[in-house]
Order: sequence, then structure tokens, then C-alpha cells
Amino acid sequence: MTAQNSDRKSGVPGQDKNPSHIMPHKLTLDSKIKFHCHPGVSCFTECCGHIDIILTPFDIIGLRKRIGIDSDEFLLRYTKPVYIQKTDMPGVQINLTKEGRCPFVTEEGCLVYSDRPSACRYYPVGMADFHEGTQEEQDTEKFFFLVKEDYCKGHEEDKVWTIREWLADQELDRRDELNKGWMELVMRRKSFGYQATLSEQAQKMFFMATTNTEKFRDFIFNSSFLSTYEVDKETLEQIKEDDIALLRFSYLYLASSLFGTDDLKIKEQKIKERVKEVEAKRGNAEENAKKLYDELQQDKEMMRKRLAEKNKPV
Ligand code: SF4
Ligand code: SF4
Repeated sequence: MTAQNSDRKSGVPGQDKNPSHIMPHKLTLDSKIKFHCHPGVSCFTECCGHIDIILTPFDIIGLRKRIGIDSDEFLLRYTKPVYIQKTDMPGVQINLTKEGRCPFVTEEGCLVYSDRPSACRYYPVGMADFHEGTQEEQDTEKFFFLVKEDYCKGHEEDKVWTIREWLADQELDRRDELNKGWMELVMRRKSFGYQATLSEQAQKMFFMATTNTEKFRDFIFNSSFLSTYEVDKETLEQIKEDDIALLRFSYLYLASSLFGTDDLKIKEQKIKERVKEVEAKRGNAEENAKKLYDELQQDKEMMRKRLAEKNKPV
């Protein structure tokens, strides 16, 4: 595919719940589609406007590096906050111009083409929204569909691909693998439903770890993080410099801190300190309750005496 592809209603790359323009049949990796997008099509760049493009953590790293700015500046200039796929997990989507166009589109095509987001790469293929249920169910129910919109003339071209070829051509295999941990966190959160909510602190942590590598790195190396979690030397060396290693690490950290998995171990000493804290709190609570009870007893005794005084025969 050439420069301009996007998944206009997608919450997460390639996923689209039930738009009216999708072809109603399921496609597998071996299904064939007829499609070709190139600068010669009459609709060139038409699809780069009036769209919701949620950025994955890897999209953000690729785009900000491509533009040559840090995460803070990228998030401020090019994105707006959004909740991912009807969860309470915060993320970002591309902030469109006043005219409703992607800020990276020009008449010549996509300015950030080789680092364009995964959502742009998937189009016109969508991935089924299979996020409910267990991981095994999700794997077996994974399927694709074709998005056909009238203005997109790529469907009138003669080039034929299997879905597998399409995903490989768009480098989605590697990108999906790098975003997998993030997707799994979102799906895990969805499986909890609305009965449970993420605390504000947890939401902030999720946002920082998945959108801002510099801030997350700073948090790891300049807070009590390393005195709380067991992290081996090799991992520490990697995440100090390598944004992709840091991204993978963030998924483990979030899974363990938000969902209590064993991906990261809390230091033995920290556990002991926490137990002591809880015990101290419990001790204080017992002490306070006893104090209150004694005070109430004293009040009661005083009242009893006053009543006795009052009723004494003169
Ligand atoms: S990032 Fe590029 S391909 Fe995606 S919508 Fe913007 S201009 Fe189009
Ligand atoms: S063929 Fe479709 S994907 Fe390509 S530029 Fe035209 S509208 Fe966009």
C-alpha cells in the first residue's frame, strides 16, 4: 500500500466493531483481497481525514523519533487524550487539523510514511473485535474483514493479496508483536467489565508507561521503583538506553501492578515492610477502638452517677 491508509472508526489498529461499510464475511490469513493503493489513484490522500487514529505505544515512539522531538512535545502537538476501546485505560489519538485532516498529510502523500501508525497500515483490512473471553477463545476467534468505502478506488485495482501477504507488506507482523503486550492489557481490562474501575493513580501510570518513554524511564531510575521491584542487571542495562526494551518492560510492569501477575517480583524486604505497615495500622486501629470503648464506658459511668445523684431522696 502507498501513503494513505487509515482505519477511520478504529479504536485499536485493525479493529472495528460493526461499521456499515465492512464486507459481511469473515476473512482468514489465507483469504484473498483485491486492492492496490498508490499515488496514481484518483482518491489519493482522501482517506487521511475525518478519522480517529488511536496510536499504539510503538506508533508514538516511531512518530516522535521520525519528527525528532521528545514524547512530551509530540503528545502536546499532535495528539489528544482518549479512552481505549471503551475502557477506562487512557491513550491518545492523532489530533486532526481544523479542516479535519491528519497533520501529516500533504498533497504528495504521507509525510511520515515509513513510520505511519498501525491503523493506517491495516486499512482496508480490519481485525475482528474479539476482546471478550479467554486468551484461547481470542486466538481461535481471530479473523479479518474488508472495509469498503465508496470513495476508496483502491478496490478497483487489479492487485490481489492474501491477508497474510498484506500484513507482511505493511510490516504489521513485527508491529503487532511489539504492541501485543499493550493489546493484552486492554483486553484483560475489558474482561473485568465495568464492575471494577482503575484508580486515578493506575490510569496515570498506564498513560505514562504507554505513551511517554522518557518519563517512564525517569520513573524507573529516579524513584523508589528499583528498591521495590527485582530487576536484573541485564534488563536494567537494556532499558536504560533502548526504547523498545523499555516498552516491553512497561507491559510486564503494568500487568504486574494493575492485574497482580507474576511478571515482576516485589523485593522480599519491601514485602516485609508492607506487612509491618499493615500490622502497625491494624495495631493502631485496635488501640483506637479500645480507647474509644474506654471513653464511652467512662461517659456511661459518669451519666449513671449523675442520674443516681439526681434521684437521691432529699
Ligand atoms: S499518518 Fe499518514 S497515512 Fe496515516 S492518516 Fe496521516 S497522512 Fe494518512
Ligand atoms: S485507494 Fe483508498 S487507501 Fe488509497 S489513497 Fe485512495 S482512499 Fe486512501
